[in-house]
Amino acid sequence: MTALYGIPVVILKEGTSRTQGRDALRNNIIAARALAEVLKTSLGPKGLDKMLVDSFGDITVTNDGAAIVKEMEVQHPAAKLLVETAKAVDAEVGDGTTSAVVLSGALLSKAEALLDQNIHPTIIIEGYKKAMAKALEILDEIAVKVDIGNLETPEGLSRVKPTLSKVLHTTLASKYLATPDLINKLIDMVISAAVAAAEKRGDGTYEVRLDNIKIEKKKGASLADSQLVYGIVLDKEVVHPGMPKRVEKARIALIDAPLEIEKPEITAKINITSPEQIRSFLDEEAKMLKDMVEKIAAVGANVVICQKGIDDVAQHFLAKKGILAVRRVKRSDMEKLERATGGRIVTSIRDLSEKDLGYAELVEERRVGNDKMVFIEGCKNPKAVTLLVRGANDMVVDEAERSLNDALHAARNVLRDPKIIPGGAAAEIELAMKLRKYAESVGGKEQLAIQAFAEALEEIPVVLASTAGMDTLETLMELRKLHSEGKIYAGIDVINGKVVEDMLAINVAEPVTVKKQVIKAATEAAAAVLKVDDIIAASPMKKEEGKAGKKEEGEEGEKSKFEFD
Ligand code: ADP
Ligand code: MG
Repeated sequence: MTALYGIPVVILKEGTSRTQGRDALRNNIIAARALAEVLKTSLGPKGLDKMLVDSFGDITVTNDGAAIVKEMEVQHPAAKLLVETAKAVDAEVGDGTTSAVVLSGALLSKAEALLDQNIHPTIIIEGYKKAMAKALEILDEIAVKVDIGNLETPEGLSRVKPTLSKVLHTTLASKYLATPDLINKLIDMVISAAVAAAEKRGDGTYEVRLDNIKIEKKKGASLADSQLVYGIVLDKEVVHPGMPKRVEKARIALIDAPLEIEKPEITAKINITSPEQIRSFLDEEAKMLKDMVEKIAAVGANVVICQKGIDDVAQHFLAKKGILAVRRVKRSDMEKLERATGGRIVTSIRDLSEKDLGYAELVEERRVGNDKMVFIEGCKNPKAVTLLVRGANDMVVDEAERSLNDALHAARNVLRDPKIIPGGAAAEIELAMKLRKYAESVGGKEQLAIQAFAEALEEIPVVLASTAGMDTLETLMELRKLHSEGKIYAGIDVINGKVVEDMLAINVAEPVTVKKQVIKAATEAAAAVLKVDDIIAASPMKKEEGKAGKKEEGEEGEKSKFEFD
């Protein structure tokens, strides 16, 4: 309720809660920090996994920051802001989500201390923004340039491979599936996939279109049995036993229409009064299906990939023509096939023509574990590849998919912007040291905010050290000392629990793009939280009043999206 000229004016709906000023800000900071606390223990190669159970009882076990925040049903609006940030980082560079949340949590906790000293939020925000800009500059200075050369030649490839391996090693080793042999195998697979999908750009760097790389999961066997397929793999079988299981020089029709006769609606009524009529009705149907198949055969297709269903009778005719057919293929796979085979998806069989057909050297159904899958290899566009991921159970293959996805992004990031920086918090320590110097040159109250920013960056080495069971304060002191002696690559070897002078020498490196994105996103999220001085929240919707009416039983566990903690 607000009072103007002594007259009470009600502007908010009854039941709306309102928190203002410092209280609102503190409330938000606490929530954002709470989220950062949760993610902290998952950072780095010794980070612990989270087991997340969603409202349907499905379980995800992961230490991937992006997956954690996606599965967590975060309620508080400020924490949600951080979640959105993490998702944005993931979408942009595919890695660095945990770091982004931890860093924004640290920025906010340092901001709280400044608020206690009566420094206005806008000054903190200004200081943070300056610090961020400077940090991005410094990152470019300390980054190591990678000479990419010509990926197409074996010499060129062997020149970048060591660097790419370092970066991929850092990404993959922080996941739980790590045994050295396995990691090396996965690294090779990811590099081969990225190189196959890479296209050279004018400036000598490469663009890896990740949508050319499909990750197909198949439970069974072990992760070590995963493989790179030069082509597309469909989790489908050939529809009819009479069809060939292997077609060479495949001419592929991509069809987004049912090879079925649309059955009349239930309400429609057909009056059939004699057996002859039934017969002619069925004959008519069979003839229509036969015509469809004739048409497909006439344009020269020997493989049919159909997004919709294929009627038994149509299957029979297709088999008789020696055509291999697969049905109910996902739209996303249809689109991948379109690009890979150079074909065109047609929505009506009548319109199918020879030039719509795609091409592949080989289409073959193969047994994978207990199932059959269809492999489409030697496609017209050789940039389309599939990582076929195997693993003992759903949790393993799902986590492997996330890790490989991170690794593919990492490879793409390096090939796109060929600069790497040392990991294990070497960059953060160096940034913190340089930012403290910079703060002095800025002066005033903003100086304090820039110093706070530097302190927040040191949260990363502190967390990494604690996951490695090291003394955090001692580690920080040692690292600061090494950096002040000019050892800019000194960082934490988390695996062996010690400080090392050159992270690059122990193969811990990250693409500079990821670190930049982490710093930008964390600063923006912290600033967004600091800007808020008023929380106006609608009263929680009562379940029985909810639009959806009665809830399904399985949804009971889900809290109302409008509730605040
Ligand atoms: P994010 O979601 O932020 O990518 P990760 O769990 O992948 O989180 O951890 C990334 C952090 O772990 C980075 O700071 C990286 O430098 C560090 N890191 C990864 N591997 C190692 C290692 N072997 N030794 C030290 N630090 C490592
Ligand atoms: Mg990572």
